Amino acid sequence: MSEEVVIGLEIHIQLLTKTKLFCSCSTDYIGKEPNLNVCPVCLGLPGSLPVLNKKAIELAVKTALVLNCKINRVSLFHRKNYFYPDLPKNYQISQYDFPLAENGYLEISYPEVRKNIKVGIIRLHLEEDAGKLIHKGEITRANHSWVDYNRTGIPLAEIVTKPELHSPEEAQLFLIQLRNLVKYLGVCDGNMEEGSLRCDANISIRDKKTGALGTKTEIKNLNSFRSVRNALEFELRRQKKILEQGGRIIQETRHWNEEKKITVPMRSKEEAPDYRYFPEPDLLPLRIEQEMIERINKNIPELPEQRRKRLIKEYHLSEKDAQMYTDHSTLGDYFEQAAALFPDKKMLNNWIKVELLGYLSKKKINIEHSPVSPERLVGLLKLITQGIITGKIGKSILERMISTGQEASQIIQESKIKQINDQEEIKKIVDIIFKEHNDSIEDLKSGKEKALNYLIGQVMRYTKGRAKPELVREIIKKKLNLWNT
Ligand SMILES: [Zn+2]
Repeated sequence: MSEEVVIGLEIHIQLLTKTKLFCSCSTDYIGKEPNLNVCPVCLGLPGSLPVLNKKAIELAVKTALVLNCKINRVSLFHRKNYFYPDLPKNYQISQYDFPLAENGYLEISYPEVRKNIKVGIIRLHLEEDAGKLIHKGEITRANHSWVDYNRTGIPLAEIVTKPELHSPEEAQLFLIQLRNLVKYLGVCDGNMEEGSLRCDANISIRDKKTGALGTKTEIKNLNSFRSVRNALEFELRRQKKILEQGGRIIQETRHWNEEKKITVPMRSKEEAPDYRYFPEPDLLPLRIEQEMIERINKNIPELPEQRRKRLIKEYHLSEKDAQMYTDHSTLGDYFEQAAALFPDKKMLNNWIKVELLGYLSKKKINIEHSPVSPERLVGLLKLITQGIITGKIGKSILERMISTGQEASQIIQESKIKQINDQEEIKKIVDIIFKEHNDSIEDLKSGKEKALNYLIGQVMRYTKGRAKPELVREIIKKKLNLWNT
């Protein structure tokens, strides 16, 4: 059977607000004592009323706009009812049939190959997070579980894609690029291990001949890029095997066991009626003014994908290098700051990615803390292009700039690589070079200017970059009576 893999993702991103979605409790809970950031609202005590956090709306709108969604001017909050110990109210305030935003897409690009895919976004809605259960079965004779409500009520944006991803690799790529995007925008810290970005994936196999969709299974709570890919790859193999043997896929929710590298059934998939959604009576419909949408839109910075394309166009970088500067935006900023001061972008790019990053990683220093600023790196490169030092010496100077924090010129002053300024000494060296390069002298006499630079280069090489190039130029011209050329 000719078949096609169909994958859709549901991604929860924790919005970077200072306070929770419906109360003023702090969202800063990592490493905190359990149940410190709680109040009657997020504990769901009788009589308490939710108050919507404006910042959360703004961050969700911002995310929806970059995902090219249509923002609904009016959306509703619903109660999603279910019982679980990490949910003190026994319902979660979420959005159901009138979400904040709908009908968008994210264009993702394969690194190195020129291939872009548009992945549709069905919806983006706001909801509150649940608490956390901590299971410690080994402590006493009975199994114990604790519950921590610090996370309860933290704002989440849930993003649901269309089933338009067609391989586990593509799903992983989508998630990486979405993560980079929300981090870049400052709407989420993107930390998957700490759970600020979580992913559920559904997968099915479509018969290409009939176009019929297969039964899908959903894998819950994937908390790393690798587990998304591994879990989907496993699930794909499992489904294929069942179908090949003439079996039937059961619609269900499955759990990815990271240690055993398998998915195992959790429960049969719930349908919407199981949650008995109804409009949240304690909250008014959410109205978003056009003015707010415009204001947020105006403040959206250049997006990674836009930057990647601009870097290629403006600096003629390779796809791979442009991708590197986009993925590491601080490094991209470094490159662009230096590029504004230095004309040879190709040389600059090579020095940054090979030499600078090489030395920094040897010293375990991040580019953010580089002792060599873009201005200082350009200062060094100018000494090379002016022929004052050779590239080789430049490399050792860069290494010293990193370990001492000094400027290139300062290092040259203080070290043996100081220039030779003595006329007589340079004249002697020029004579040696002249003896070896009669052809170039003839070329120069017949007006080939390039030969002059070549001869200067030879002197520089002979002196290991220590001769002062202006002086060398002057002496060569004088010796050959070339003042008027
Ligand atoms: Zn609270």
